[in-house]
Amino acid sequence: MSELTKLFENNRRWAEDSQRNDPAFFQRLAEQQTPKFLWIGCSDSRVPANHILGLKPGEVFVHRNVANLVVHTDMSCLSVLQFGIEVLRIEHIVVCGHYGCGGIHAACSSRQFGLIDNWLRNIKDIYARHRAELDGIADLKTRADRLCELNVIEQVKNVCHTTIVQNAWSSGRPLSVHGLIYGLHDGLLRDLAVRVTNSDQLEAIYRLRMGEISS
Ligand code: ZN
Repeated sequence: MSELTKLFENNRRWAEDSQRNDPAFFQRLAEQQTPKFLWIGCSDSRVPANHILGLKPGEVFVHRNVANLVVHTDMSCLSVLQFGIEVLRIEHIVVCGHYGCGGIHAACSSRQFGLIDNWLRNIKDIYARHRAELDGIADLKTRADRLCELNVIEQVKNVCHTTIVQNAWSSGRPLSVHGLIYGLHDGLLRDLAVRVTNSDQLEAIYRLRMGEISS
């Protein structure tokens, strides 16, 4: 028996239940998606966007990677941002980290984990930027949890620094970028109160004027 048999059974049951509850559900979704939210979260299997938010298929556009990073050269993440904002007309971008993140814990140590160390290096840069605060936290778990929060705050900035988000603001589009963190231990989201809604909230060096490409 295929290891996927159980998954196919689950899927068939879910599709039948969904259709029974809302006969036009799949037909409607097949025609278009109109999500208001873009979720940028961790790949961790315990942090599934739709479940946590109580949203159905079609209600949240999702990008996930290890430790919910927004790296300004990551074409995958940038493509999701561009498509979400310019085509789907997303109005809210949620960067969501989680306490107990394995990627954050790995970045706090000197151990090698392979190729992923090059990805986690982005988190080490954040640690270095906030070393005074982080080194002042004696308990290692508490320190890592604080780095989980700081990482979200930095990734919110990275989202806002993209040309994609700044051009959306320049053209008058309503677009908010939020930073949240999720507790694996209680299933609750916490707002880190780093909502950004326009480029005036950015450091001056990162602000870009729309439509000006200089040679
Ligand atoms: Zn994680």
